[in-house]
Order: sequence, then structure tokens, then C-alpha cells
Amino acid sequence: MNVYNQEELARFVEEAKQYARYGKVADYIPALGKANPSELSIAIYTPDDEVVSAGDVTVKVTLQSISKILALALVLMDHGEDDVFRKVGMEPTGDPFNSIAKLEEVQPAKPLNPMINAGALAVTHMIRGRSVEERLGRLLAFVRRLAGNEQITYSKEVAQSEFETAFLNRSLCYFLKQHGIIDEDVEELMDLYTKQCAIEMTCIDLARIGLVFALDGRDPHSGEPLMPLDVARICKTFMVTCGMYNASGEFAIKIGIPAKSGVSGGILAAVPGRCGIGIFGPALDEKGNSLTGIKLLERLSKTYSLSIFGGG
Ligand code: GLN
Repeated sequence: MNVYNQEELARFVEEAKQYARYGKVADYIPALGKANPSELSIAIYTPDDEVVSAGDVTVKVTLQSISKILALALVLMDHGEDDVFRKVGMEPTGDPFNSIAKLEEVQPAKPLNPMINAGALAVTHMIRGRSVEERLGRLLAFVRRLAGNEQITYSKEVAQSEFETAFLNRSLCYFLKQHGIIDEDVEELMDLYTKQCAIEMTCIDLARIGLVFALDGRDPHSGEPLMPLDVARICKTFMVTCGMYNASGEFAIKIGIPAKSGVSGGILAAVPGRCGIGIFGPALDEKGNSLTGIKLLERLSKTYSLSIFGGG
């Protein structure tokens, strides 16, 4: 019998939805502005291959910053830890995800971590392949394996919308290029990055990916390793220290689950050994995290004692 119960979950969703009016849908990427702020869906995937869900789980969410953790896993497999961490650091910044402020503090220049945009752009740059198509294809193939869903693709509309408006991200790329952290054409990298961020899936797919991380990189169905244990460990650690942007400290104290959010309102969470959680709630708080999603996770963490740091 699954400890997570459908009716209880539906009740928690209704409760958390009450907070939607205090949040705001991201609209700096124009296509994301179309989302309905009172939408809220969740799926919990357990190691016995069962899913419990509530809300409209057919709605798709673009990954946005959630993609940063998946691209990181792939480049760690492509290049190994030493090469990746030569170009990007391991420390949380306490600044907003798109901040340019701390880039000059480290000498020689190096973005502080792979979860802020500057670091994520450096990571995307490292995805191996001869063309944008081949690199995106490799990332998509990896994401499809993690989700166990061959249908996953990216939203052309959202990718295009971000590509046309990503001036700050372009400036981060030029900084990285000036300092030799990237050496490719900026428009080419922006093409790949915006498509990566626009990969879309349901919260059930998100939960399945969360479960792979929770199971140290193993496929929940076949037991086959989809990534090395160390890669899963590094990704979960970044989820704890930097996954919720500059709200990661408060999230660790109140909820205590490795998680990664995106400005689309998605959250991917991994409770080690226990379950993967996928959430879609586009009403965001002022730091760019799903406000309703965090309320829901707080309720779940308390009800089922999910914090990795222990306690009730
Ligand atoms: N594509 C978005 C950007 O780079 C992702 C940011 C996010 O989800 N925080 O601005």
C-alpha cells in the first residue's frame, strides 16, 4: 500500500491553491505569461513504480531552470568532475538566478555555481556534439531515458519567445566569452540554451526523473544505472545548496528536500531512497519559485516527514 494517498493529496492541492492569488506568473519570457496562475498539479513516483497524483497532470510545463540540473548531469558524464568544475564553481551566491553582480569577484573569472544562469550557460556550452541539433538531441535522449518517455520534446513557441528577449543572458554569454569560459558563437549557445529551457513534460515525467535521482541514478523500472552514482550525488547536493535560487536556505530549513525549480512554475524534487516529486504551479513568489508548489511541498514534508535532515 502506498503511503501517499490520492484524496489526501487532492486536499493538499486545494489548500495550497488558495495562495495562488499572492503569486505572479513569469512574463519576462512572453510565452510563459499565458499560464494560468491557479493551475496546480503534483505527482509522486515511488520505487515500486507507482504514481499518486492530483490536479490536472496532463498539463505540460517547460523545464526552464530545472533543465540546468539535467544538463549538468550530462556534462559531468561527458567530461568528468575535474573538467566541469574548472569552468564553474560549487558555491551558492545568495543572488537572484540571473544576477551578473558576482561574476567579477572570482579571479580568474568563473561563475560561482551551475544553477545560476551564468554557470548554466557555461554548462550548456560543454554539452558535446558537432551542432546545436546534435547537442540538443543528446540532451533530449538523456531526458527521455530519465523520464521513461520517448515523446518528450521542446516547445518551439517558448524557445523562440525566450530567444527573442534574452538580452541579459546574452550579456552573461559575452562576459563568459571575454574570459575564455566559452568559445562558441553566442547566438548558437543561446539557441541551444533556450531550446534546453523549453523542453516540456508533465509533472508525472518530472516525478519520474526525481525518482531516478532519489535512487542514486538507477532506472526505477529496470534497475539499470542511467547516470553514475557520483553524478546523482553531485546533482542532489546542488539541489539542496542552490536549487531554489536565493531561497535555498529557507527551503532547506522548512522543507529539507533536494529540489530544483524553474520560472515556469515547475519543481523537480528527489527524496533519497523514497520518492520523486513533480509539481507544476505557475504562480511564483518574488524569487521566481512556485509559491503554491512550495506551500504544497511544505505540507507534504511535514505530513510524511520527508526532510533529509530528520525531524517530524
Ligand atoms: N530560461 C530561463 C532564463 O534563463 C530560466 C530561468 C529560471 O527558470 N530561473 O531566464
